[in-house]
Amino acid sequence: MDFVAAHDPAVGEAIRAEYERQRRNIELIASENFVSEAVLAAAGSVLTNKYAEGYPGKRYYGGCQCVDVVENIARERACQLFGADHANVQPHSGAQANYAVYQALCQTGDTVLGMDLANGGHLTHGSPVNFSGKNYNIISYGLNDRGYIDYDQVRDLAKKHKPRMILAGASAYPRIIDFKTFADIAHEVGAYFFVDMAHIAGLVATGLHPSPVPYADVVSTTTHKTLRGPRGGMILCKEELAKKIDSAIFPGSQGGPLEHIIAAKAVALGEALKPEFKTYQQQIIKNASALAQSLMHEGFDLVSGGTDNHLMLVDLRRAGVTGKELEHRLDEVNITVNKNAIPNDPQKPFVTSGIRVGTPAATTRGLKEEDMTLIGKLIWRAATDFEGNQDELRAAVASITEKYPLYE
Ligand code: PLP
Repeated sequence: MDFVAAHDPAVGEAIRAEYERQRRNIELIASENFVSEAVLAAAGSVLTNKYAEGYPGKRYYGGCQCVDVVENIARERACQLFGADHANVQPHSGAQANYAVYQALCQTGDTVLGMDLANGGHLTHGSPVNFSGKNYNIISYGLNDRGYIDYDQVRDLAKKHKPRMILAGASAYPRIIDFKTFADIAHEVGAYFFVDMAHIAGLVATGLHPSPVPYADVVSTTTHKTLRGPRGGMILCKEELAKKIDSAIFPGSQGGPLEHIIAAKAVALGEALKPEFKTYQQQIIKNASALAQSLMHEGFDLVSGGTDNHLMLVDLRRAGVTGKELEHRLDEVNITVNKNAIPNDPQKPFVTSGIRVGTPAATTRGLKEEDMTLIGKLIWRAATDFEGNQDELRAAVASITEKYPLYE
């Protein structure tokens, strides 16, 4: 950081300011995390200089001996961690990974059944503004009245529309996903079954969420959420589909892989194979549960009435504040969250009646259940009794962050 500032003050200062922000704030964005210093170092290594189109042992460039070693380690660790036949660690992001899976398994115009964005799905699961919604005939499923995935609706829609592919996975779903039921439905109608486990990959890796790998034809993930690696994507699949998936990534949709990021993925996957990683994931769930209890105790409703995983969706209507406004207020007192639509949200998507909060990053930092109880109170105060109390709220946040220093 100091090196960048000495070389390029404008960029260096912006990086330093972000470093200070990360240290000052309580990070509750459910899709973020803090990587280890080894992951950071690998991502900032000389591997960024290397072109390596192709795959280990079959490259279109010379001088790939060293990056081949790195990419093979990443692939082997991914297979070991998730019990998969084959791993492709080259996707530049989760969206790129998903793009390649559609390319590999579907033709343009095919019918795909995916979770509605407004009910917790991701843009790449069929939103009309995304390649998925533009290139495929998307049928969306959602939640039942209790806020759980409506598996009866999934089955009915699958029988009616006979999709080429059924997609399970979510960006804002606080409950366990029943992959077996999805797989049964996919088999009943002869569809491919594709799982995007981006949010829950760390929980899956440690057995704290049922694994989709035995049930799905293809599983994609990001590497930077609960998995705590660098920003990026990854695809796991059965051996029969390995060639299709690999060629959908390269040459199908990407050029040279980011070997520095693949090195960082390899380091993070190595960390995830260690016993401490399970303890960390258990603490994420304990913290989420404590935060959920605190938020409900204070007076908020949670979509589905709670959480089984690392995140929860807070319905703000009883507190009389919008998601946009509360996100803004919390930012002012150094708590970072994102506004998020709740099911059947009366507000526009840019305003919303909810926020999504998650515990992976705060847990990495060391926060425990008692901190979560206090954070629930602070969020309620910000929602219901904010004006004039900003300094007090900021001081309460600082009393937590100072206990858990980050990247010293
Ligand atoms: N899939 C899911 C379920 C996600 O939540 C996200 C990102 O939030 C993605 C895919 C996309 O990942 P990326 O932002 O790396 O493209």
